[in-house]
Amino acid sequence: MDRKDTGVVIETGQTPTIIRYNPGVHVSRRDFLMAGALISAGVLGVGEARAQAPAPGAAKPVAPMMPVTDKERAYMKQAIDEMRRAGVVDKTGGPFGAVIVLDGQIIASTGNSVLKDMDPSAHAEVNAIRQACRKLKTLDLHGATLYTSCECCPMCYATAYWARIGKIFYAAAWQDYDDIFDDAKIGVDMAKPYSERLLAPQQIMQAEGQQVWKEYRAMPSTTRY
Ligand SMILES: [Zn+2]
Repeated sequence: MDRKDTGVVIETGQTPTIIRYNPGVHVSRRDFLMAGALISAGVLGVGEARAQAPAPGAAKPVAPMMPVTDKERAYMKQAIDEMRRAGVVDKTGGPFGAVIVLDGQIIASTGNSVLKDMDPSAHAEVNAIRQACRKLKTLDLHGATLYTSCECCPMCYATAYWARIGKIFYAAAWQDYDDIFDDAKIGVDMAKPYSERLLAPQQIMQAEGQQVWKEYRAMPSTTRY
């Protein structure tokens, strides 16, 4: 597949080599997750989160809500088929399925495999993104759409973000299964200050960490993504 139209700019001959995504706005991982968590927890609306996030701000809503076509419903039906296969038929994990479509082609279709792979990160969306990236040999799924049978958890939303997926459709919502899975609780937890969160992230040895960043920046050739 021709990937020249993905918006990826590879600046060779520069020091360091830079891989940049034209359409994207760089947002720090922490700011992005915080803004997303606040929105997810219902603490902020998207606009409010953008207004409160420090420069350069939270991700801009590049893919607004839009009318849904029969084709999109068909892609979602496939995601729900994957959901049933994973959770009810093959029992590879929870009932979650995902499909990724790019340029009108399904490039990944898979379900949750947390139990089969003994991997807590093997959510359907992450599995689909891994499958799509390996298939196309790219980190950049710009322009792709993710159809997921269930509302993305923060990990899957962030993975889709890092993969530069442009739009997400979901079917079942967190409240439809919050008696079984923790998605909603994670969103609420992430909206809290670190000291009040369940895992209480605590910073230590910042100077030592900063030193490696210094070394990385000084390297003659680094890849940024
Ligand atoms: Zn997930």
